[in-house]
Amino acid sequence: MATTIGEEKVTVFGEEEAKQLVNGLRVAYDSGRTRSYSWRVAQLKNVVRMCDDSEKEVVEALYKDLAKPELEGTLYELGMIKNACKVALKELKNWIRPEKAKTSLTTFPSSAEIVSEPFGIVLIISAWNYPFLLSIDPVIGAIAAGNAVVLKPSELAPASSSLLAKLFSQYLDTSAIKVVEGAVPETSALLEQKWDKIMYTGNGRVGRIVMAAAAKHLTPVIMELGGKCPAVVDSDINLEVAMRRLIAGKWGCNNGQACISPDYILTTKDYAPKLVDALKTELERFYGKNQLESKDLSRIVNSNHFARLSKLLDDEKVSGKIVYGGEKDEEKLRIAPTILLDVPRDSLIMSEEIFGPLLPILMLNNIDESFDVINSGTKPLAAYIFTNNKKLKEKFVMSVSAGGIVVNDTTIHLAVHTVPFGGVGESGMGSYHGKFSFDAFSHKKAVLYRSFIGDAALRYPPYTGFKLRM
Ligand code: NAD
Repeated sequence: MATTIGEEKVTVFGEEEAKQLVNGLRVAYDSGRTRSYSWRVAQLKNVVRMCDDSEKEVVEALYKDLAKPELEGTLYELGMIKNACKVALKELKNWIRPEKAKTSLTTFPSSAEIVSEPFGIVLIISAWNYPFLLSIDPVIGAIAAGNAVVLKPSELAPASSSLLAKLFSQYLDTSAIKVVEGAVPETSALLEQKWDKIMYTGNGRVGRIVMAAAAKHLTPVIMELGGKCPAVVDSDINLEVAMRRLIAGKWGCNNGQACISPDYILTTKDYAPKLVDALKTELERFYGKNQLESKDLSRIVNSNHFARLSKLLDDEKVSGKIVYGGEKDEEKLRIAPTILLDVPRDSLIMSEEIFGPLLPILMLNNIDESFDVINSGTKPLAAYIFTNNKKLKEKFVMSVSAGGIVVNDTTIHLAVHTVPFGGVGESGMGSYHGKFSFDAFSHKKAVLYRSFIGDAALRYPPYTGFKLRM
C-alpha cells in the first residue's frame, strides 16, 4: 500500500522508514516548536480551516467508504471535530497554566504546582467507522498538549484515509504532524518504534497486540475499544420518544457500526410486544418501507463484515426470531434494520459485539434481571436505560460498570465535552474529549518550590531520641 509521510508518497513503509520517521519527529519535537502556545493555536485553527474548506471532499470520501449519509458526516464527524477544536482554542490557556497545589506542614515553607508537559511524540491508530472523527479528535488533544504526532488511519476506509493524508499535508505542520497510511505491515513497523504515548481505537484483539508492542518500550497507552452496549427499556416511559432515541443511536449512527450504538435490548416479556410495535412504527417513519434502499442508512463497510453479520443471523439458535427486517443485498453490502425477539443468551449474536444493523431483544421476567445479564458480561463502553423509576435509575448508575451511562437516551454523551469518553475493563482504558483530551496527552509533572529559609533540623542526622519523640 502506498504510504504518505508528510507530503511524500512512498511505496514501501517498513521498519527502516518507520525509524527515520520517528527520528525526524524527535528532531521536530526537541526543537521545542510544538510546545509553544502559538504553534498549538495555529495548528488547531488550521484544523478548523481544513474542515471548513473540505466539507464536500469529506462527505464524498465517507460516501465512498461507507455510503454514509451526508448529515452524519457533517454533524457527527466534521461538526464534532470543529467543536472539539473550538473548545480547545477557547480553553487552551487555562489548560496549559500550571495548577496550584496545596502543600503540607512537612515541607513548610513551600509551594507546589502541577505542570502539564507534552509526552513527546505520540502515535494515534484509528478505526474505519468514523474515520475523520476518530482520527482528528485525538490529534486535536495531542496538538493541544504540545506533542508531535503520527496518525495511522484505518485501511478499511481507504478514501477517508487518503483524504486525511492529503489534507494533513496541506494544512498542518508536516514536520511534526504526519499521516502514515497503511494496514498491518505498516502499523506493525510503526509499533516497533519507541513512542511516548500510543492511542489506539479499534477492537480488543488488536488492542492486545498494540499493548504488547507498547509494553516493550514501557509506553503508556489509551485504548478506545468496544463491547456490547446494553439498552434496558422499562415500561413506565414515553415509548415513542424512547424508540426514536434508540433508533438514532443504533441505525442513525452509521447503521449500527458505531462503538456506542445500543447492541441489544433488555425488557420484560410483557412489555416486549409493545416495544417492538413502537420500534417498527418509528423505523418506518424514519426510513420508509424499502429500508434496504434508504439513503439515510450507511452500508456495511466490506464483504468480511457483511459475512460476519450474516453468520450471526444464520445461527440456528435465532432461527425464526426475526420479527422485522432481515433483508440483505450482498452486492451493495446493505443490510436493513433487523429486530430479533426473544433471543437466547447463548446465541452467537449475544456472544460478540454486533457492530451492525441487527438488534436482538432479550425478554426478562422482571426488569431487575437486566443487572445479571449486563454484569455477567464484559464491561461495556456505554450502557443505556429508559425509565422514570428513580430507584432503578440510581441502581443502574451505581451498579453497572461501563465507560459511560446515559439515562433516557443513547450515544449523545459523546457530544458532551465536559465528561470523559472512554471505556473500562475490556471496553478500554484512558479517556478523552474536552480537557480530558489535553490531559490524556500530557504528563502531569509535580513541582515543589522551596527557598533556603525554614530549614528544619528534624530530617537531618544524628537521629536523636529527642527528634524521634517530636
Ligand atoms: P479497524 O479494522 O479499522 O482497526 C483499527 C486499527 O487497527 C486500524 O488502523 C488497523 O490498521 C489497525 N490494525 C488492524 N490489525 C492490526 C494488527 N494486526 N496490528 C496492528 N494494527 C492493526 O477497526 P475495527 O477494529 O474493526 O474497529 C471496530 C472496533 O473498534 C469495534 O470493536 C468498536 O467498538 C471499536 N471502536 C471503538 C471506539 C471507541 O471510541 N472506543 C470507536 C470506534 C470503534
